[in-house]
Amino acid sequence: MKSNLKFLEENDPAVFSALLGEENRQKAGIELIPSENYTYPEVLATLGSVFTNKYSEGYPGRRYYGGQEFTDEIENLARDRAKEIFKCEHANVQALSGSAMNQAVYLGLLEPGDTILAMDLSHGGHLTHGAPVSHMGKLFNFIRYTTDPSDGSIDFDRLREQAIEAEPSMVLCGYTSYPRDIDYARFKEIADEVGAISMADASHFGGLVAGGVMNNPFDYGFDVVTTTTHKSLRGPRGGLVLCKKKFASRIDKSVFPGLQGGPHMNAVAAIAVTLRKADSEEFREYARQVLVSAKVLAESLMDKQVSLITGGTDNHMMVMDTVASFGLDGRVAEEALDRVWITTNKQIIPDDPNPPLRPSGIRLGTPAATTRGMTGEDMQQLAAWIVECLQNHENEEVLERIRSQVEEFCRRFPVPGVA
Ligand SMILES: *Cc1c(COP(=O)(O)O)cnc(C)c1O
Repeated sequence: MKSNLKFLEENDPAVFSALLGEENRQKAGIELIPSENYTYPEVLATLGSVFTNKYSEGYPGRRYYGGQEFTDEIENLARDRAKEIFKCEHANVQALSGSAMNQAVYLGLLEPGDTILAMDLSHGGHLTHGAPVSHMGKLFNFIRYTTDPSDGSIDFDRLREQAIEAEPSMVLCGYTSYPRDIDYARFKEIADEVGAISMADASHFGGLVAGGVMNNPFDYGFDVVTTTTHKSLRGPRGGLVLCKKKFASRIDKSVFPGLQGGPHMNAVAAIAVTLRKADSEEFREYARQVLVSAKVLAESLMDKQVSLITGGTDNHMMVMDTVASFGLDGRVAEEALDRVWITTNKQIIPDDPNPPLRPSGIRLGTPAATTRGMTGEDMQQLAAWIVECLQNHENEEVLERIRSQVEEFCRRFPVPGVA
């Protein structure tokens, strides 16, 4: 690998220098975007391997090109490991990323125009859950459920009423900015009552399910579970579609040839590597620590009068109402934290009166910080810096002091795969 980078250094100094810049950026600051992580050195190596040269349209044993001895081997490993760790009957590992994985499910199991009941975007749902700007939002009839304003949890009574009224073909749970676990039993019951397919999009918390610290929708009889592989699972960018056997052939045909051409076999190989890593005591300990650190960070922030949506967290993330807490919109808060090298993302909050590029909050999460070895104690320090930064967002002196403290602090925590 090192030797391959030598070629880049010699032949394309511009890209090489951007790569070094990004490595330094990832080392120098604290990554709190809940959907990001640092992957394993062996995953970086596998992604940069000769598997990227290979066309493997089709599935193991049934390919359209020759020379598949080793690609079949890695895809079978990835599929078997996914089935084992998520306790499911079938796994498709070829989706090029999370969005493609969800599109493959809708297009494979439903007809255009069918109704899908999914979480409202401002309440935590993802773009791929029928955002009006997305192609899926135009192709399918998405009906949106919301959270209960009193405590921020999913309003199941209302959801059941909506399901009975709309008779959806699919009931979808899962989120991109919801800091709680999901009552899968309740969801499944509602899906069954209206005869809908039950789907959970575990993109954010797939690693926490794999690590055994959050509920697995398959334990409640769910039909389909999707997850990205690059978030809490700590792998390469990609998506898994996991499902019951009865949907297996429709899902596989939907991914290829329905939606995609040749799979990225370097990513498939890296997914196999990731899933083996995830099936270890070390990873289970990692997943536990992600949750512990999120709790400590949330409590430390709330001790300082910060307002968090739903009043805390049960998973790896939290959503801060920056308007209520500091009188700042999410964009200003994100930019202030960027200046002290703490990376977060601006975030819409439930029924946000402000537009998405100037929303009322930011989103914080612990998967990446935990990968670097930060623990609960460090989260208390982090909360203190975040609050001080946002209270003094125009005070250059304070920002500069925090920035140099963050820089110093980060030296203690190596980034995997970056020397
Ligand atoms: C991240 C995410 C996706 C999409 O993943 P991409 O790899 O960015 O396409 C889908 N669903 C949810 C809930 C997500 O959080």
